[in-house]
Amino acid sequence: MLWARAEGCRVWDAGGREYLDLSGGFGVAALGHRNPRVMEAIATAPVAHALGDLAEAEVTQRFREALPWPAKLGVTGEDAVEIALRTALLATGRPGIVAFEGAYHGTGLLALAATGFERFREPFAAWLPGPVHRRPYGVDPGALPDDVGCVIAEPVQGRAGARVPPHGWLEILRRRCDAAEALLVIDSVYVGLGRIGELWPGERVADVVCVGKALGGGLPLSAALFVRRLETAWDLGPEDVLTHTHVGNPLACAAALVVLDEVPDLLDRVREAGARFEAVGWHGAGLMRARAGDAQACESNGVIVIPAGEDGSLISATPPLTITDDEIDEALSRIAAC
Ligand code: PMP
Repeated sequence: MLWARAEGCRVWDAGGREYLDLSGGFGVAALGHRNPRVMEAIATAPVAHALGDLAEAEVTQRFREALPWPAKLGVTGEDAVEIALRTALLATGRPGIVAFEGAYHGTGLLALAATGFERFREPFAAWLPGPVHRRPYGVDPGALPDDVGCVIAEPVQGRAGARVPPHGWLEILRRRCDAAEALLVIDSVYVGLGRIGELWPGERVADVVCVGKALGGGLPLSAALFVRRLETAWDLGPEDVLTHTHVGNPLACAAALVVLDEVPDLLDRVREAGARFEAVGWHGAGLMRARAGDAQACESNGVIVIPAGEDGSLISATPPLTITDDEIDEALSRIAAC
């Protein structure tokens, strides 16, 4: 299916057929597709591209100031994960990573090494960095092996199908990291910016929180947020070793300022909307939901969902946080038998 038009929670294909988008464009469209304030911010931005880390646009500076912690910016979610993992190596001198079964952290080699999906990793096994010690999700990983510099975890697993760990699990990870002087990296790329009813999931326990997807309001933008002070890890001289040509893109930062302004007012609504999914058998948290089902059948019935689960047997819903009760009811009734 080719997307010809998208507005709010709805998408139209090239033939003019309308769909309700329960995927929210892979969790990106937190404020809905083509949110008017986001579109206005992009259209009126006085700088479209600056000089990355050499000379930032003024709007990029304002975006940094709107974040609660110092950040290194990226373009994709994987960039943020990469920054966080490399920071752990620099800070501890230890290359080992504890990661979890069912985890998804991105497709670049370092993030891929930490990803739990075997079918993604297998073709590149010869090149993957490590060592990576994989542990069951939601379970105390035990004392960390001696070579481990960090633990990376999703607060709720997204691509594994909205898997919620037991209450207090992230705190257990914090204690394991403290005991081993390792960093705790919380990958909130999917769940961050309101999706599970919190702005910065993991902020209470993390050394670094990674966000992406929803951050740029539809434009590519991610950040590794340095919740705890780690500046010595970056004392590498005058050049930023993790820079990109497009780092801090002004259009994405202008859009992100709208996201940061609006999402805090949606958190209560996310919990309420999530309960509507829960009532009809979708597990998960907030507006990250999943159940058994067939994504293709849903699309045939005019609803976009994403196949999920390590074996692809689930469908996941990560709709715009602005979705109305009527839109939820309409979408869920269209796919009740899928
Ligand atoms: N972390 C998590 C938890 C994700 O869900 C994703 C993408 N689905 C990523 C990282 C990677 O983000 P990107 O695809 O933007 O690189």
